[in-house]
Amino acid sequence: MTASPSSLLFLGLLAVFLAIRGVYTRRMRRAKAVSRADVGDRVLIVLVGLGQVFLPFVYAAKHVLAFADRPQPAACVALGAVSMVAGLWLFWRSHADLGDSWSITLELNADHRLVTQGLYRVVRHPMYASFLVLGLGQALLVANWIAGLSGIAALALLIVRRLPREEAMMIEQFGDEYRDYRRRVGAVVPRWTKAAAA
Ligand code: SAH
Repeated sequence: MTASPSSLLFLGLLAVFLAIRGVYTRRMRRAKAVSRADVGDRVLIVLVGLGQVFLPFVYAAKHVLAFADRPQPAACVALGAVSMVAGLWLFWRSHADLGDSWSITLELNADHRLVTQGLYRVVRHPMYASFLVLGLGQALLVANWIAGLSGIAALALLIVRRLPREEAMMIEQFGDEYRDYRRRVGAVVPRWTKAAAA
């Protein structure tokens, strides 16, 4: 059995995602002053790799998960492609806005810069928002219940576990500056109502 065109489209767009990540990983500052990375976070990063990259790739190459295939309506393909392109744009812009404040796990530079501009003016976690949009794209483009949903499931676990830890680390580092930022700006979806004055 050959891979479906929509799962090949997913893999093509995933390659763009990996290329963007590759560029910023090479630019990343290696020396970090603070690390809150724990085993749980590293396990979840591996799980994301399996769910977002490995499973869809194996599925397209071997079609071993054919028993969990689902029909693929044209609307799913169109919405999936739109989600992937939107997710890639969000991902690229959040990397560009975060600059050298980015790290793959929970870490801080010695002179860590709090970013509240660009996408970070709209939401506090645009990169995690981009992961969810990309996960939705995968679910729509890969017409298989396992290889389609594995990305968003692993990403949601990573985000739910990491977000409170990341914010606690940011509050420890930036104190009221981050508390104030959190009061004004939503986490992964924009806040429409203005925060009350303190
Ligand atoms: N949660 C953010 C960033 C993900 S990268 C997002 O989804 O866009 C994770 C690292 O980014 C964390 O280890 C932390 O050091 C850094 N970070 C998170 N929010 C930040 C901010 N507003 N300014 C600067 N660095 C930030």
